Amino acid sequence: MTDVLLYVEHEEGRPRRVSLEISAKAADLAAAAGGSVHAVALGQGATQTLDQLGQYGTDVLHASDDETFDQYLGDPLVGAVESLIGSLQPGAILLPYSQDGKDLAARLAVRLQTGVIANVIGLEVVDGRFEATETIFGGAYTTTVRVKNGRPPVVTIRPNAFRAEARPKTARLEEISYRPEGEATRAKREETVQEEGAPVPVDEASIIVSGGRGLGGPEPFEMLQDLADELGGVVGASRAAVDAGWISYPHQVGQTGRTVKPQTYIAIGISGAVQHRVGMQTADTIIAINKDPDAPIFQLADLGAVGDLFQIVPALTEEIRKRKAH
Ligand SMILES: Cc1cc2nc3c(=O)[nH]c(=O)nc-3n(C[C@H](O)[C@H](O)[C@H](O)COP(=O)(O)OP(=O)(O)OC[C@H]3O[C@@H](n4cnc5c(N)ncnc54)[C@H](O)[C@@H]3O)c2cc1C
Repeated sequence: MTDVLLYVEHEEGRPRRVSLEISAKAADLAAAAGGSVHAVALGQGATQTLDQLGQYGTDVLHASDDETFDQYLGDPLVGAVESLIGSLQPGAILLPYSQDGKDLAARLAVRLQTGVIANVIGLEVVDGRFEATETIFGGAYTTTVRVKNGRPPVVTIRPNAFRAEARPKTARLEEISYRPEGEATRAKREETVQEEGAPVPVDEASIIVSGGRGLGGPEPFEMLQDLADELGGVVGASRAAVDAGWISYPHQVGQTGRTVKPQTYIAIGISGAVQHRVGMQTADTIIAINKDPDAPIFQLADLGAVGDLFQIVPALTEEIRKRKAH
């Protein structure tokens, strides 16, 4: 019997979508391994994640609302998760491939003397062992990875690699008694500053209207924002647009930006370089607007418009407005 432990990222009790994706995936893995799904959530509001996690396959939530976990950097989280792993002995520890997830994963792996498998897009139980799939070299190769020393792998999972499908259960809450002190409270968070960026993170949006170098400057992004507003979506960007300083980094989609899996992805003035494609190619529907009929993005697109974006985008927004008014 092998249990799976997932680390939950949440904002004052609201789990991030990636954590629900991981919980649903963990439910499938635990079923295959004959075990249960344990989740750990820490910091203000942590216990409030219980019902939602249960909806996505978590059996037991270990949580503490202690604000100390928000006030200090890293160490208290590592201490709490490490002590939980000691008592649960899970077969795998799953975290989001995020800033905090990567930090926590590396520290846990050192303490547990095990390996980290990073940026994972596939995870299965094969002959009782966890086997992960990750893409390397900008999506050019897919590799299968296992931790060989018999210890539980620490796996960071790319947002949108798995679907957040409902796996309804009645999750049980276990309060965490671990209290950080001494060494664990040496680095304090003095101030949290909201990074300028999309109001909804691009990797959690259902509709993304993305702009590239073809926009020619920062102003046309307002035109994209208008279209996104009409559609109830958010604005994304290629690295070329971000590097040019036309829009901030949190909007960047691709290998060195966010991986997205929206229902609809509209690529406007984006050529479709491989490093961009690896971040958006699993969108349900891809629409491309580009003046070059040979642009590689059209190989991927379900629907394409060849033409000048400065004519097509305002006309499209206007048409949507008209139809919504009826
Ligand atoms: C290690 C590494 C990591 C990278 N990571 C990323 C990443 O995370 N994300 C990313 O996006 N890129 C990434 N890149 C860069 C990537 O290789 C491309 O350079 C980049 O994606 C190109 O951006 P673009 O499509 O906006 O620009 P271009 O390739 O210059 O394409 C602009 C497109 O706009 C079209 N166009 C121009 N004017 C108009 C008009 N008026 N109307 C309609 N269409 C028009 C053109 O036909 C062209 O197809 C990475 C590169 C490397 C080496």
